[in-house]
Amino acid sequence: MSELKFCQGIYCHTYHTQDRLKGTKGSKTYQTRRRSHLHFGEFCDNRCYNDWFEKYGTRAVDHFGRLTEAKHLTKENAWTKGQNYYTWQRENNEPRYYFYNGVTKEQRPLTEAQYNDTNYTLNTER
Ligand SMILES: [Zn+2]
Repeated sequence: MSELKFCQGIYCHTYHTQDRLKGTKGSKTYQTRRRSHLHFGEFCDNRCYNDWFEKYGTRAVDHFGRLTEAKHLTKENAWTKGQNYYTWQRENNEPRYYFYNGVTKEQRPLTEAQYNDTNYTLNTER
């Protein structure tokens, strides 16, 4: 069983839903939701995510680094992972997992372990 985490929504406790109403009879209060799975790992729903981002988004972007010039998609950063879900897609020996370069259109096979490894990439630039 996974651990329950509090929604980080700053107004979560102000939304009147039955599942937020907690406590003993006579002294129930609306409370911040707890969930084992949260949107982006932090929020119970999109409303709480939006509340947080509206208040802190600009500060968060400034803190982690604001984009000040356009990024460019080049062959060095255009690799994305893909998966052929259906067996008919693999009839001509197409691999189940593959890398695809959005600039050169090149495709390269990928092992399942490489596909699942979120740090594994062919991109040499961001
Ligand atoms: Zn919430």
